[in-house]
Amino acid sequence: MRAIPALALGALVLPLSALAADPHSYAQPEQVRVTHLDLDLAVDFPHKALGGTATLSLDWKNPKAPALVLDTRDLKIARVEGLDAAGRATALKFALAPRDKELGSKLTIQAPKHPGKVRIVYATSPQASGLQWLTPAQTADKKLPFMFSQSESIHARSWVPLQDSPAIRFTYKAHVTAPKDVRVVMSALNDAKHPLDGDFRFDQPHPIPSYLLAIAAGDIAVKETGPRSAVYAEPSVVGKAAHEFEDTEKLIEATEKLYGPYAWGRYDILVLPPSFPYGGMENPDMTFATPTVLVGDKSLVSLVSHELAHSWSGNLVTAASWRDIWLNEGFTTYVQGRITEAVYGKALADEEALLSARALQKSIGEMPENSQKLAPDPRGVGADDSLSDVAYDKGSWFLRTLEERFGRATFDEWLKAYFHRHAFTSITTEQMLADMKTNLVDAHPGKMSWDQARAWVYQSGIPKDAPLPTSARFQAIDKERAAFLDGTLDAAQLDAKGWNTQEWMYFLDRLPDAPPLSKMKQLDAAWHLTGTPNAEIGMRWYSHAIAAGDRNVWEDAREHMTRIGRMYLTLPVYKAFAATPEGLAYAEAAYARAKDGYHPMTQGAIESILRKARQGKK
Ligand SMILES: [Zn+2]
Repeated sequence: MRAIPALALGALVLPLSALAADPHSYAQPEQVRVTHLDLDLAVDFPHKALGGTATLSLDWKNPKAPALVLDTRDLKIARVEGLDAAGRATALKFALAPRDKELGSKLTIQAPKHPGKVRIVYATSPQASGLQWLTPAQTADKKLPFMFSQSESIHARSWVPLQDSPAIRFTYKAHVTAPKDVRVVMSALNDAKHPLDGDFRFDQPHPIPSYLLAIAAGDIAVKETGPRSAVYAEPSVVGKAAHEFEDTEKLIEATEKLYGPYAWGRYDILVLPPSFPYGGMENPDMTFATPTVLVGDKSLVSLVSHELAHSWSGNLVTAASWRDIWLNEGFTTYVQGRITEAVYGKALADEEALLSARALQKSIGEMPENSQKLAPDPRGVGADDSLSDVAYDKGSWFLRTLEERFGRATFDEWLKAYFHRHAFTSITTEQMLADMKTNLVDAHPGKMSWDQARAWVYQSGIPKDAPLPTSARFQAIDKERAAFLDGTLDAAQLDAKGWNTQEWMYFLDRLPDAPPLSKMKQLDAAWHLTGTPNAEIGMRWYSHAIAAGDRNVWEDAREHMTRIGRMYLTLPVYKAFAATPEGLAYAEAAYARAKDGYHPMTQGAIESILRKARQGKK
């Protein structure tokens, strides 16, 4: 996922009793494991619900296990049946525990006779945390309703009853019905030529963890971008998206050259409406992506490199729990940089690495000590909160450090073999470290001590000797910014005509937190940043201009926040408003009007910011 919810949703302390193998799941995989899922669902737009059956194939591990325990959240369970080898159904007793705010409701199914399959008849609720339902008016083309899922981290349980832990992998098949004219897609092989007859079938033959279950349905057109890639999007968006992502095959080939064959068959991209809460989600065979990267010049295509990289780091070799999620995101951010370098050049890859390293240097000091560790004590961290910039940017910085110490050829050889050795399995930080110790550190002595490697993983902060890339263009921008701020260079004299998105991001990121108002007005007069269609630039510009006290940007900032539900791009603007009483009142009014268009996750994150501001906390 390309996420960085820049503002944590609030740490959550789990009771000690929840400290099983995966503290964010009720599943008991040592008793019984789900090996395959058959879904038969109908998409019900008027009731904002998916309804039907989930049939789980089971591998009973403990001969005395009395029950199958599943994760659910806000599901309406109608009945549960055990199926014998001949497919005969027997009703099973079940109990749904009271809803836990973080984990949902534990579903205990009494099954002492250990049926090979269990079928659950159920429906989702309109408030399902992993689904968003949009009215036609909330879509780009205003013709049909739209729905999509976002299962990572622990939201699959809000639309399928299952063992919702990344340690448990299963294959799946699905039969999904929908109104005619609607196209349904899933995280499986999709057929671009499928008729829009309201009846779709899917097959995911590779075992995947539950957070990679995905579905979307709506007015979705398709355009091929290569021999094994296509773009799916609303009809008015699909052409622009196909142009922005026309290098997809080049990106796949570059990654295969580095890390071996692409294992999943097709690599399609679904561009969602702007309310999608994340940048992208690496659903197998079909990445789900924000439209905010469609800026016309391919400058934000590293999002595709990131999601594609997950086809190796994350989807192929998966973190076994949310505490280990840096194995997905840190490795992926590193691989993303390598793909960017191979296809777009080292200068751009170095700029992106520097942007993320500088942002981390700024933010890490404000985090609790435990959250600064790559492998934190999971008791202090909620599942969604574990997807922080530490997992992404400290994780990738660690791998860049290893690459520098061991040399690119040696490091590449290890990483490629690591993906191969652990393909289609879920592993812990400690299993990865054991592999790294044997096959990299001990195999090539004298490059880096084992204590140094462990310090990256288990200690807070960033090691002092962490290497940083250099960028001549960023150095020039540092000089220009300094001259502009001390008054020796007018805003209009900035050499910004040729700046790409990353260079504007870097210029704005390193302005003072609350710049002088006069400086912001000069900048806007010269470069017309207010109203920018580029949301990466907009987020940074509005945050700084609001902090500087520039009321003239408020209306455009509100428009930005209303239009974009991607948390990383909209939460910082809310936070900037929330810093003063007048701004907070304005943001609360803006939120009240925009709320219905936001994803449940975005709603929760914004409400947390506004609540904390009202209570006078940061
Ligand atoms: Zn990611």
